[in-house]
Amino acid sequence: RHALASSPNQIRDSRLKPANSNRVLPVRAAFVILVRNSELHELRATVRQLEDQFNSRYHYPYVFLNNEPFTEEFKQAMEWAASGDCHFGLVPYHQWSMPPWIDRVRAKWAMTMMGDRVPYGDSESYRRMCRFESGFFFRHPLLDDFDYYWRVEPGVEFTCTIPYDPFQYMVDNKKVYGFTISLREFPATVRTLWQTTNAFMAAYPDYITPNNTLQWATAADGTYNMCHFWSNFEIASLGFFRSPAYTAYFDFLDRAGGFFLERWGDAPVHSLAVAMFLNKTQVHYFDIGYFHNPFQNCPNDPEFNENYCFCHANRSMIHNLDSCTKAWLNL
Ligand code: GDP
Ligand code: MN
Repeated sequence: RHALASSPNQIRDSRLKPANSNRVLPVRAAFVILVRNSELHELRATVRQLEDQFNSRYHYPYVFLNNEPFTEEFKQAMEWAASGDCHFGLVPYHQWSMPPWIDRVRAKWAMTMMGDRVPYGDSESYRRMCRFESGFFFRHPLLDDFDYYWRVEPGVEFTCTIPYDPFQYMVDNKKVYGFTISLREFPATVRTLWQTTNAFMAAYPDYITPNNTLQWATAADGTYNMCHFWSNFEIASLGFFRSPAYTAYFDFLDRAGGFFLERWGDAPVHSLAVAMFLNKTQVHYFDIGYFHNPFQNCPNDPEFNENYCFCHANRSMIHNLDSCTKAWLNL
C-alpha cells in the first residue's frame, strides 16, 4: 500500500499543517473567501496554487464565508488543501438581503430593465453579494482577530511564485490597500454612484483626506471615469473598512439604494473609498502573477518572469487601454 497516511487527519497533520499549531504568525492576517458549496472544485485548485506559490511557507489561516452552511465535504476538502487553519462562517441573513427601505417593486423593475445588457444585470443574488462585500465582510466575527486580509475567489490562478510576504510588506511600508488589476466599470451599473459619492463628501467633508487621489477616478468633465481596482484580488487593512469614514460611506450608499436599484459593485465602492480616504503612498500595486477570467496581471521583469512564472507578460492587463494602473502609478 502506498497511502500517504492511514487517515485523513494524519494527512492533515503530517503532510500539510505545521507541527506547532500554537505558532505566532508575523502578521494578524487571513485569506478571506466568500464562496458557494458548488464552487468546491474551482476553489480547491485555487487554494492548492496559492499554497504552492506562497502559503506553504507561511501557513496563514483561511476564513471561508457563505450565505448557506458549508457542507462537510467542502470543509474537509479545504482542511486538506490548506496549510493554515480553516474557519468556516455563515453570513447573517440581514447582510444578505434587500434592506427594508428598498422599494422592492422598483428594484425588481430595475433588474428586469438591466436584463442581460451588462453581466449579472438581472441577478438579485449578485447584488446581495456586492452589498455584502461592500459593507459587511469585515464585520464578520471570524475576522475579529485579524488586521489584514487577502481576498481570494474560486477559480483564480496565482501564476508566479510569491517569494516574500505581502502582509509583512503592507505592515513594513504602512500600506492600507493593495491591488493587482484595475479597469473600467460598466457605466450602466453605477449611473448614480458618483453623484451619491459627491453628496456623501458634501455631508462629511471631514472624512476626506487632503492628499486624496480622487483625480485618478475623475474624468476631464468632472464625472466618474469608471476606474476601479478589481476587488476579486485585494490585500488590505481591515481597519480601513472598519473605520468611521468607510462605514459612514457604506451606510450612505446603502440608504441611497443603488446596490439594488442599480448594480453597484463592491469594486467601485471600495475604490472610491480608497480615492477619498487614502493618499497615494498608502496604496500599493502588487505586481503578483494573477489571473481572474478574463484578465491577468503578469510581472514584466524578464528574469523574474522566466524563473518564477507561467504567464506571458505581454498579456498583462497593465498594457490594456482599459487598465487604470499606469494612470495610478503616474499620479
Ligand atoms: P464576478 O467575479 O464578478 O464574476 O463574480 P463571482 O461569481 O466570482 O462572485 C464573486 C465572489 O462572490 C466569488 O468569491 C463567489 O464565490 C462569491 N459569490 C457570488 N455569489 C455568491 C452566492 O450567492 N453565495 C456565496 N456563498 N458566494 C457567492
Ligand atoms: Mn469572480
